[in-house]
Amino acid sequence: MIDAHMHLGPLSFKGKNWGNQKEYRSILKKTDITKYCAVPIGLPENFSNNTTPDNNSVLEESKKDQSLIPIYWFNVFDLPERIDYKYKAIKFHPDIGQIPIDDKRIIDFTNKTKLPIFIHTNEAKEYSTLEKIANLANQVKVPVIAIHSGSVTRTFFNLHNYKFPNNVYFETSGIQYSIILKKIYEMVGAKKIILGSDYPFGDPRVALGMIDSLDISKKEKELITTKNIEKILSIK
Ligand SMILES: [Zn+2]
Repeated sequence: MIDAHMHLGPLSFKGKNWGNQKEYRSILKKTDITKYCAVPIGLPENFSNNTTPDNNSVLEESKKDQSLIPIYWFNVFDLPERIDYKYKAIKFHPDIGQIPIDDKRIIDFTNKTKLPIFIHTNEAKEYSTLEKIANLANQVKVPVIAIHSGSVTRTFFNLHNYKFPNNVYFETSGIQYSIILKKIYEMVGAKKIILGSDYPFGDPRVALGMIDSLDISKKEKELITTKNIEKILSIK
């Protein structure tokens, strides 16, 4: 299995560090997850100063750890000329600068890099809705992965108003209620759902529990936990 979304911690708050690689790897040992897609940790100052999290920390860690798949966190205020070929995908967080998901800069950068894009979503904020995910996905050719699948209860009520093109995928971390994931499964099926933990904010065991709340076949679970992300990232 592959955890498609985690952060290389730690998250520091009031002198205490939350999350580290040793803890994460010990959690993985209790599961069937053997690989993981990593982005840097977003620090409070990245959000208040519109700065880019430390992508290099992810590349450095990937040299020590073969199971780590590096993902590049880009920032429209600081777009790179090029990104290292070792990154398998890009990630965008609309809370940095409150940039709408379907902003032209996001579309252009995605089309330029030609890499799959992970995007943080929250249906409660007008710039980060799943409707905007659908709108962006219609204008790019790569897979678009909605991290947190909209997250909040409102998602459940809004989902049926949206039409998702084939390149949209839904990630399991940070979903407030299992009924949201159940509705997504009913609408788009196991082929479009992806296991992600959002460690250290979330935990791979919680993400796996969320998937277990869907009554699905072994084959469908394999799609969600392994096959879909392997295909998206062209890895084996
Ligand atoms: Zn995250």
